[in-house]
Amino acid sequence: MESDLWICCCELHFGLRGVRLEHSVASSEDEEWYVNGSKHLNLSLVYGNGCNNRTMERLKSRAQPVRRLWLCWLRPLSKHKHDDHCFLETIANVVTSLPFIFVGLQAPRKKTVSKFYADSLIGVGAASSLYHASRGKARQLLRRGDYTMIATSALCLSRALLQSENWKGFFACSAALVPFQPFLVTILHTGLTEATFARRVQTQPLLKPAHNLHTISSLAGATLFLADGLYPQTPYLHAAWHLVAAVSVLTYNKLLE
Ligand SMILES: [Zn+2]
Repeated sequence: MESDLWICCCELHFGLRGVRLEHSVASSEDEEWYVNGSKHLNLSLVYGNGCNNRTMERLKSRAQPVRRLWLCWLRPLSKHKHDDHCFLETIANVVTSLPFIFVGLQAPRKKTVSKFYADSLIGVGAASSLYHASRGKARQLLRRGDYTMIATSALCLSRALLQSENWKGFFACSAALVPFQPFLVTILHTGLTEATFARRVQTQPLLKPAHNLHTISSLAGATLFLADGLYPQTPYLHAAWHLVAAVSVLTYNKLLE
């Protein structure tokens, strides 16, 4: 599906208003990306004007990774039509969701906010297992549930780490956004947690081994996540990402002890 007349339409069912991503290459010079009908990226700017055919082809092949990364970035929010390659991969995706439940059961529960976080992790494992085991119409709904639980968990963790009154309004706004923009909430609160982890390591050297393991597993997780988006035909990348992400999340428990 990479020809010049390739048209990609992904309807992203998020929020009250869905996001519609369209990509079209109408001619050799115009390659445009639309989000909700508005032009979002025009690769003809990358190609430049007045190129001869050979230069154009070379630039287009260079732009291919940009296109794939763009899709990969939006892929987690898009409608998957071919998630699993075979039944064994479905089993692998379901089984590798279960470690999140284990991590949730192991998480400290000293305070109410920590309890919420621990329970949200159990929810992440359960929602992910249900989504990966599902088929048919329920799959889209369960996929949304999967993202919503991940965002809720990211929010609960940063709330457990940042309990100052000053943050209350920010957390209330984030909680309101979870059903509509789960991906944004996940990124925002994971960033906050990462900054807190890095800062705490400076004052608590005992956290250093956990932080080192966290850094390695997070980098491996990011690589697998990108690889899953860039090479969707490769099986078991998603299951491998589940496992590495579970290790990364496990190290957060040290922050709550
Ligand atoms: Zn998954």
